[in-house]
Amino acid sequence: MKEGRYPASFVADTVGIDFLNSAANPDEGRLDAVGTGQQFLDWLGRAGLVPDEVCGYFQGSGDSAEMDGVAEQARSLREWFRDFVVTHKGKPFAVSVLDELGPLNGMLRCGEGFEEVVARLPDPDSGTGPQLVCEPRARWRSVDSLLVPIARSFAELICADDFTSIKACEGNGCNLIFIDRTRRRARRWCSMATCGNRAKVHAHRDRHRLRCEADGSL
Ligand SMILES: [Zn+2]
Repeated sequence: MKEGRYPASFVADTVGIDFLNSAANPDEGRLDAVGTGQQFLDWLGRAGLVPDEVCGYFQGSGDSAEMDGVAEQARSLREWFRDFVVTHKGKPFAVSVLDELGPLNGMLRCGEGFEEVVARLPDPDSGTGPQLVCEPRARWRSVDSLLVPIARSFAELICADDFTSIKACEGNGCNLIFIDRTRRRARRWCSMATCGNRAKVHAHRDRHRLRCEADGSL
């Protein structure tokens, strides 16, 4: 497996699918943004799933073989979830899918969550003061606990989101997946800046060629 050259994509509009998109072309010589423990930590930090100080603690704790092992478990959970999403995307599913969720529930059971009352700073434009809110927290006592936020993001996608709006990018050779939250469910591309733009250029070139053929100038 090649490692590290694939930039993590955060285009899915939901973090669980963003994690699926951390691997490009998983069936062929894959490029992986979480190919090592270090890369997995970086990804968790960038996704906002683990506080920076926790990422820093595990970065500094020194057991890179253990971290690589956790990244391997994360990749295998990711590929299990990819199969689940590919099977169920685009349609509603019944409660009976619970029978398929053993690997996910197994990972969620490793969680050591609790809740804490904290002061949340307001939006600077809101004109209000800080508010007290009860927020979920976690103990990060082992490297395995880093898998829990990934499992939770998958669980939230299954329980609280709309699988009928999950789509694969139509870009040629692109394997990224996203959730279409547009009002008309018209999103076709992982990103307009990449696949959407390429499709526009191709469509323009095709129209130009057809015009030239019609004119006899080709
Ligand atoms: Zn794409």
